[in-house]
Amino acid sequence: MPRRKNIKMQKPKIKEVKEKNASILFSRLKGMKDILFDEYKYWDLVIKKATELARAYGFRRIETPVLENTKLYERSTGKGSDIVTKEMYTFIDKNGEKISLRPEATPSLVRAYIEHGMFNLPQPVKMFWLGPIFRHDKPQAGRYRQATQFDLEIFGEEAPVADVLLILLAYNFFCELQVNVQIQINSIGCEECRKEYLVKLLEFYKERGRRSKLCGDCKKRIVKNPLRLLDCKEEKCLEAREEAPQIVDYLCDSCREHFIKVLEYLDELDINYNLNPYLVRGLDYYNRTVFEIWAIEEEGGAQGKLALGGGGRYDGLVKYMGGRPTPACGFAVGIERTITKIREKNIPLKSEEGDLIFLAQLGEQARRKAFAIFEELRRAGFKVRQAFTKDSLKVQLEEANRIGAKFSLILGQKEVMDGTILFRDMDSGIQEIVNQKRIKEDIEKKLNLNKGK
Ligand code: AMP
Repeated sequence: MPRRKNIKMQKPKIKEVKEKNASILFSRLKGMKDILFDEYKYWDLVIKKATELARAYGFRRIETPVLENTKLYERSTGKGSDIVTKEMYTFIDKNGEKISLRPEATPSLVRAYIEHGMFNLPQPVKMFWLGPIFRHDKPQAGRYRQATQFDLEIFGEEAPVADVLLILLAYNFFCELQVNVQIQINSIGCEECRKEYLVKLLEFYKERGRRSKLCGDCKKRIVKNPLRLLDCKEEKCLEAREEAPQIVDYLCDSCREHFIKVLEYLDELDINYNLNPYLVRGLDYYNRTVFEIWAIEEEGGAQGKLALGGGGRYDGLVKYMGGRPTPACGFAVGIERTITKIREKNIPLKSEEGDLIFLAQLGEQARRKAFAIFEELRRAGFKVRQAFTKDSLKVQLEEANRIGAKFSLILGQKEVMDGTILFRDMDSGIQEIVNQKRIKEDIEKKLNLNKGK
């Protein structure tokens, strides 16, 4: 009797566990994104363009780990920056080390430049980097917690031509992807010229009770990093900054000369830019040229709600991080935002795949033979596709149409016996019988004929 009782008691327990498991539905984390099949063609396009341009301008690919010591970012990005104070994914690993998921690429690249003694290489060293960054920011349109950037850096070149090369590359990247952009540019000078400017800026905010009208964040910034008062997007801060002194009026001779040269180059290259006195960028390490890339909205004016990319010069950072004094500059472009812009324009994408050939089969014997033919054609370099899991010829030809195949090769029982194969032109529907032995020559001939049309 007690045995029976036990069994009765266990049953509902198991059921309950089963039901619980069945009800768990995992979803991706907030602010994270899956890239599904249809979107991938845009990724291919954008990454191909970035890679092609980086190579054309002499940048070499580099990859760095996703995790770095937290101190790297505290020292470079800056302890007072929004990224470090609010947005980093930081945790203690199993060895008790405080590490962070990278929130931007530049600090790792500076670390790599120093760690691998790249000052021994011929200068400048031009790096191309592509990968995910992580920022625990408030998710919204165009702002993810995992985003992908392509990033270019030039180490060991002080001349304005380096700044211009980066801006030109960024500009060409967007133009060639048919995204209309305007470059927003400013110079925030060096430490010396900024000193006098910051005194004037603080005086300005003290006048007419402007300081008391600032948002909570800016009330802190005015003490810690007053330059950042200029790029706050809060309405009341925008009002308060009207008629604020402009840093370009306070540049020292060498910073002014540097900036003028950058602008002269941009004029000559016919790059659409806007001198934006409020552009300062949020990070501690920038000096002299800073720039952002803004999409031009359809009405015709640049609206800087979300930048597509940005960067600037950071001549003091390599030394500050323990390296030799090395002038440098760089920029990063957001891949997700770029893709959103391309998709908004509804530009049809050309298939990069070239002429596809579809191999269809009917019946078990034909399927076996088709495997061998498929491998032979693929190894010979033809772009051949198949649907070997399907039995129906109709379904297979529908698939051939869906992928835009130029020709289908159809192999049935009869063809296996005869050593032939049917060659079907997918546009006209005309079919002809071809000898299996001559299949490669015949495909070649037909593709060439087709090109001539
Ligand atoms: P930043 O380093 O913040 O200047 O970022 C450079 C570019 O990366 C931006 O202009 C965006 O295109 C992109 N980006 C930065 N943060 C995010 C994010 N949280 N989500 C999506 N894209 C981002």
